[in-house]
Amino acid sequence: MFSIQQITYNLKSNLSHDILDAVQEYLVGIGYDFSLRKISKTLNETFGLDAKDCIKYHQYFRNESPWDSDDNNLTPDFTINNNVLIVVGGIGNCLIVTLIYPSSNKSEGDKVFQFMKSEFVGCDPISPLIDSLNIPTFGDSTYLEKLDEYCTKHPELKFKDLVIDDASVKSSREIMESAVRKLLIEVSMNKKVKYEDLVKSGSEETLIKCTENGMLKTEIMVQCKSNSSNLAIINSQNEFDGVKTALRCAHCNREYKDEIISKIVSLNSDTKALITKSHWMNYVVVDELLKLGVSRDLIKVSPEGNGEELDLLVAYGDKIIFFEFKDRDFGLGDAYPFHFRLRRYSADTGVIITTSKIADDAKKYLSEISESENSMKVREIEGVENISKGVKRLILELNYKMAIGIVGDRLSNTGIAEIAGIKKWMAKYYR
Ligand SMILES: [Zn+2]
Repeated sequence: MFSIQQITYNLKSNLSHDILDAVQEYLVGIGYDFSLRKISKTLNETFGLDAKDCIKYHQYFRNESPWDSDDNNLTPDFTINNNVLIVVGGIGNCLIVTLIYPSSNKSEGDKVFQFMKSEFVGCDPISPLIDSLNIPTFGDSTYLEKLDEYCTKHPELKFKDLVIDDASVKSSREIMESAVRKLLIEVSMNKKVKYEDLVKSGSEETLIKCTENGMLKTEIMVQCKSNSSNLAIINSQNEFDGVKTALRCAHCNREYKDEIISKIVSLNSDTKALITKSHWMNYVVVDELLKLGVSRDLIKVSPEGNGEELDLLVAYGDKIIFFEFKDRDFGLGDAYPFHFRLRRYSADTGVIITTSKIADDAKKYLSEISESENSMKVREIEGVENISKGVKRLILELNYKMAIGIVGDRLSNTGIAEIAGIKKWMAKYYR
């Protein structure tokens, strides 16, 4: 989402304000103004800082900085134009020019970069060192190694090889609708249910929908009128028409057509697999993660270890995230074992997704452990309608944290100690 490009010039002498000024003047030539007026405007418009903060920032970035007591450390200058942030700073005999811009603004970033690289002569550079990188996003495959490392540390964890196929995702999304879910669960508990009983319970519309889309199958059951014994279950009306006069009951000798005929409903095997243990939630969440650009290789489905089953493991950078799914309320009795598993399998954070609610005492417990174990902040997503939004927010926040970590790291050698304004600016791109 963001790109950083950094050019380091090894100077013949130590970096001085004269050199920084020369670089600034040079950049003014392509529209990058470092003047107070411009910077205040930038700070206000781009970083959302008010006038008082602007002055503070300006002082900080200029020589008047209260932090600038040591003459050997020059404070960096910065400006922004067309959404490309330029920081000019450095240390010792190194001048470092850093460009930060949203990846969507690549052409402008490239323009400045090429300019700096090919034509910059203001400070007599010796072999400029160029370092450029794209801030990776959550799903970057470079994290595969770290996931492998994790798996090696936890050989007890076994993963299921779940294929995320379109048909299963489509069915899982249908199951998100609560009327559909309720009906399918009811059928799954009774295995075979009379169609008319389901109609009586008021779910005819959903029933028609689920038989039409193939999640439920209907069959014809023949029972003896005399003793109610089950005579046959026949796949389809056609098949029944073929045998209804040809076959007779062994007890009462009636033709099948004259016995008790009822339509029965059962789950097809694919739907059954999705409804069992709320497996459909796996498909929905994995689908959401894939849509957000998370690499499939970094998603491990249904990890199992020591007889415990987890729902989903996702590797984020050097972090391991466990997902827990519940198609019901998530109570304190669920929170304890979840916390235990987070620790046992050294997860960095956890995400609970429930179709219903997370009980207050469970929330309280989770926030207590978040406080006591810094990084172990457990995220909560309640309600089917919030799954997509919640997963997206999670990924964006994780991406953002990673991005500002990288930016802070990269800028540390330019003399910037405080990047609050930059953080604010970048945050806008992670909403
Ligand atoms: Zn009979």
